[in-house]
Amino acid sequence: MLDITDEGDLLQIRPAFGGNIMAKINTPNHRPQLATIRFKMFNEPSKVKPFGEVVNENSDNISKETTIKILETFENPQVNDISDAEIIIALGRAFKKKKDLDLVEPLRKRLNAQLAVTRPLIENGWFDARKQIGLSGRTVKPKLIINLGISGAVQYIEGMKESELIISVNSDENNKLFAISHYSIHGDIFEVLPKLNDLLDQIL
Ligand SMILES: Cc1cc2nc3c(=O)[nH]c(=O)nc-3n(C[C@H](O)[C@H](O)[C@H](O)COP(=O)(O)OP(=O)(O)OC[C@H]3O[C@@H](n4cnc5c(N)ncnc54)[C@H](O)[C@@H]3O)c2cc1C
Repeated sequence: MLDITDEGDLLQIRPAFGGNIMAKINTPNHRPQLATIRFKMFNEPSKVKPFGEVVNENSDNISKETTIKILETFENPQVNDISDAEIIIALGRAFKKKKDLDLVEPLRKRLNAQLAVTRPLIENGWFDARKQIGLSGRTVKPKLIINLGISGAVQYIEGMKESELIISVNSDENNKLFAISHYSIHGDIFEVLPKLNDLLDQIL
């Protein structure tokens, strides 16, 4: 959160120590004051009429010599960015074996969704780190997110709480995500997933 103090200082309020405290960061002694905001945290502002002035400078006298030599170039493997996804199926540690992920594939294909995960599924090496939602991952704001077997740690929720429609499936009736979900399904993902697929078979 950003605020301005009575003295005109920028106040930055953000989770620290893994989300256990909210730190108020004030820098009264230096100018300019800057803050960076994570992608997707705010809606895009409407366009304004340009009001800047173009100043042409002569660049002829600027040295173009460089000591940098390009030794090799290679392409970064393309990974669909979950921050841009409209539909996300997010997977948590309820998926204990990599083979279990196959169960999600029919639903993912049918909804044309992107898969995203919690941190443990990055740590066990199943997914690229760019697929992680949360404070130390990406912030997402899709039209629909389906959380499957995720406990709803504060570090995770911070990264997805602004999603437009939240559906969560969990076997724990006190699951924290249920409190921020539009639809909560209390049940075992391995029983619910096939039923969801059957339901979509009937209605789509
Ligand atoms: C500094 C810091 C930063 C962090 N940043 C992030 C971050 O960016 N993103 C992130 O995700 N985590 C982050 N974490 C980790 C976070 O605290 C949690 O440990 C993590 O989110 C838990 O992942 P999980 O919900 O998948 O696993 P768990 O907490 O183990 O939850 C598993 C859930 O699955 C449910 N479940 C189990 N079996 C079934 C079943 N068969 N059917 C239905 N439900 C089932 C359980 O009831 C439980 O709710 C961070 C931690 C720290 C300290």
